[in-house]
Amino acid sequence: MNQKRPMLSVAEALQTLLQAAPTKVETELVPTISANGRVLASTQHSNLHVPPMDNTQMDGYAVRSADCVSGQALLPVSQRIPAGIVGTQLAPGSAARIFTGAFIPAGADAVVMQEQTQIEEINGQTFVRVLHQPQAGEWIRRQGEDIRVGAEILQAGTRLRAQELGLAASVGLAELPVTKPIRVAVFFTGDELTMPGQPLKPGAIYNSNRFVLNALLQNLQCVVTDYGIVPDSLEATRDTLRKAAQEHDLIITSGGVSVGEEDHIRPAVEAEGHINMWQIAVKPGKPLAFGEVKRSDGESAFFLGLPGNPVSSFVTFLLFVRPFILRCQGVQDVSPQSVMMRADFDWPKTDRRNEFLRARINSDGGLDLFPNQSSGVLSSAVWGDGLIDLAAGTTVKKGDWVKFLSFDSLMY
Ligand code: AMP
Ligand code: MG
Repeated sequence: MNQKRPMLSVAEALQTLLQAAPTKVETELVPTISANGRVLASTQHSNLHVPPMDNTQMDGYAVRSADCVSGQALLPVSQRIPAGIVGTQLAPGSAARIFTGAFIPAGADAVVMQEQTQIEEINGQTFVRVLHQPQAGEWIRRQGEDIRVGAEILQAGTRLRAQELGLAASVGLAELPVTKPIRVAVFFTGDELTMPGQPLKPGAIYNSNRFVLNALLQNLQCVVTDYGIVPDSLEATRDTLRKAAQEHDLIITSGGVSVGEEDHIRPAVEAEGHINMWQIAVKPGKPLAFGEVKRSDGESAFFLGLPGNPVSSFVTFLLFVRPFILRCQGVQDVSPQSVMMRADFDWPKTDRRNEFLRARINSDGGLDLFPNQSSGVLSSAVWGDGLIDLAAGTTVKKGDWVKFLSFDSLMY
């Protein structure tokens, strides 16, 4: 029906989706140790200096640099300061044995590493011979060198990775305010689908999209309900939609969004809410359905219908569903990081759609192309390191620079 309408560009489709995403996101407090992958709900500041005091980067001797100008200084060892112990004022003309991480005692202004010293026992007393002329400040990590009191450490909307969690912990934050993960229902249409573990009957194929979608949703910290395979019938599709809408923010389906008579997604969503059948100028991909399914409480769940072809479904998720979900979870910058890379292949034919080619980074720092770019060939995505974003109507010659999106930047 809509075949004659002009196709949407990738940017237009994405913009429409992001504008529809709710601007208010629910938040909760979680222990920092279990906040990996979550989205920070409010900007965090530090109440302390990190490190809290000047401390030593080396095992060695804390000294006054002025006592060591000879390069031969012999100093009595007046105290021993392991990490975690606070030493006493360093008397002039003496040295303190000190271990990595221990605070520098008052009066000392440098650390000499133990490799540049010799121990000498004289009349039962321990001396250190300092065979080096230390500069003031040598081997000392300064108070507040990493973070100063009051400094902003993490911005609202940041996705928390290992290093962000470590930074939060380093200023003593045991809990962090994060946005609530969205609740996503998924189901799979196609009477030809069989689950791995079952024998494959004639005419059947395995439901690979179920595994791809579940993993992608897990990467984004979504709470997922998987309704499995739903028969290709209007009633079954409507029933599942109604059930799914109750407890979820978003319903995602795979398959059945073309306009064949076995494609029931459109009439089913229309009956339970409303739906826009988009034709997007993207390859692989093209059909994507976006709409809403009503709930009994008068609210509604978002609906996204992905194409059934495995690579189309995968790429459509990366380009559209991922940014939509991230925005629903309070992330502002949802665009994947792209890099310009050298194409080590020719791509002589143009397409009127924006193509996303599966490519691999080779050892010469260029990109190779998977030979079969068909939307059914999932091996291309396994072989590849990411996608080349090729504008509509563009060809590529060996040596050209192309825009590359790594799977790492597209999947998490
Ligand atoms: P459809 O979008 O329903 O017309 O399906 C397009 C193609 O994708 C057909 O060849 C289907 O057999 C295939 N397909 C649909 N769903 C899946 C799935 N869950 N896993 C693997 N292939 C699928
Ligand atoms: Mg189908």
